[in-house]
Amino acid sequence: MKQIKLKGKDIFDGQRFLGPGHVLVLNEDGVVTGIVAENTAGNDVRELDGILCPGFVNTHCHLELSHMKGAVPEKTGLPAFLTRVMENRNSGHDQATAIAEAEQSMWESGIAAVGDICNSPATVAQKRHQRLYYHTFVECMGVAEVSAPARYQYSLEVLQAFREIPGHSASIVPHAPYSVSSALFGLLAQTPHNSPVSIHNQECAAENELYNTKTGDFLRFYAHFGMDAGSFQAAGTNSLEAYLPRFAHNKILLVHNTYTSAADIRFALQQPLETWWCFCPQANLYIEDRLPNIPLFREAGCNIALGTDSLASNHQLSVWEEIKTIQTHYPDIPLEELLRWGTSNGAKALGIESRYGSFGAGMQPGVVLIANDIKRII
Ligand SMILES: [Zn+2]
Repeated sequence: MKQIKLKGKDIFDGQRFLGPGHVLVLNEDGVVTGIVAENTAGNDVRELDGILCPGFVNTHCHLELSHMKGAVPEKTGLPAFLTRVMENRNSGHDQATAIAEAEQSMWESGIAAVGDICNSPATVAQKRHQRLYYHTFVECMGVAEVSAPARYQYSLEVLQAFREIPGHSASIVPHAPYSVSSALFGLLAQTPHNSPVSIHNQECAAENELYNTKTGDFLRFYAHFGMDAGSFQAAGTNSLEAYLPRFAHNKILLVHNTYTSAADIRFALQQPLETWWCFCPQANLYIEDRLPNIPLFREAGCNIALGTDSLASNHQLSVWEEIKTIQTHYPDIPLEELLRWGTSNGAKALGIESRYGSFGAGMQPGVVLIANDIKRII
């Protein structure tokens, strides 16, 4: 079989920069056969002007919201943002076309694998093409206790539609602490063979306020939509501390974490489950105009991965653009660490590290060239 030999200014192998003088060797299918010293690589080495990097892993996306690009104003805060999304999610544009175009743009921006949130089967047809790897998180929500069994049953049916795609990985997960009743949390937490779990965590201050004192913007949000939150009881703590112990002995992706404190992080790390902290900085700036305190998570030794969120709350679906945004606001974080978050860490979060996120022999992670911009090589 013919070999593909690639040499860049440097190679990032999923963990670290290897320095110049190395050649990445793959077979025609893009399976890595090894990384060799330049003087042993032989002929036909293709020289590229940039850093070679494994394909990115986008651990948090909502492909089904792609038709809402530009439909929601920026910097309104989460409750107002959600109100606009819920009132406009079935509006005008062709959803299937937008989904296909968004997937194409992810491919071009170097993304090889995606953790994708779904409330409906809208993305089933696109995912059957298997152009990117997807883990589908079927998201369940319902504030009223009494509706929990029906909501859960509907989401199980959506889950089944994704599980019928050959080789497709999917789990059923809670949307957010403010949108899932205690009864629904119980049903979701007890679902067997359901890993990893994902949840939007502490994306706005109102969520912690709701859990601490049952006051604030979410009560107005419930009233606006006629949701019955009468049975919700304030925990007297931040949201994370109230719900996380329900998911013992699983793996959970905590997404956003914009209002997560050092005490919240300590609490989470003491729980008997594997926690992954997924940051979507562009969406946080779009919705709340604020970023999570990322140094807190680094100091605590947290597992960190990256996501793009949806085109309803972002201008593009690109892990590299998320990395650039973090660099702008936290210039002390080395590029090597940021690339790890966007490649091998994302793969571990989704449980696909044997194929994606690194240039290990036998893996098929895709190849991206990082120069002034991102170029997809394989
Ligand atoms: Zn999201």
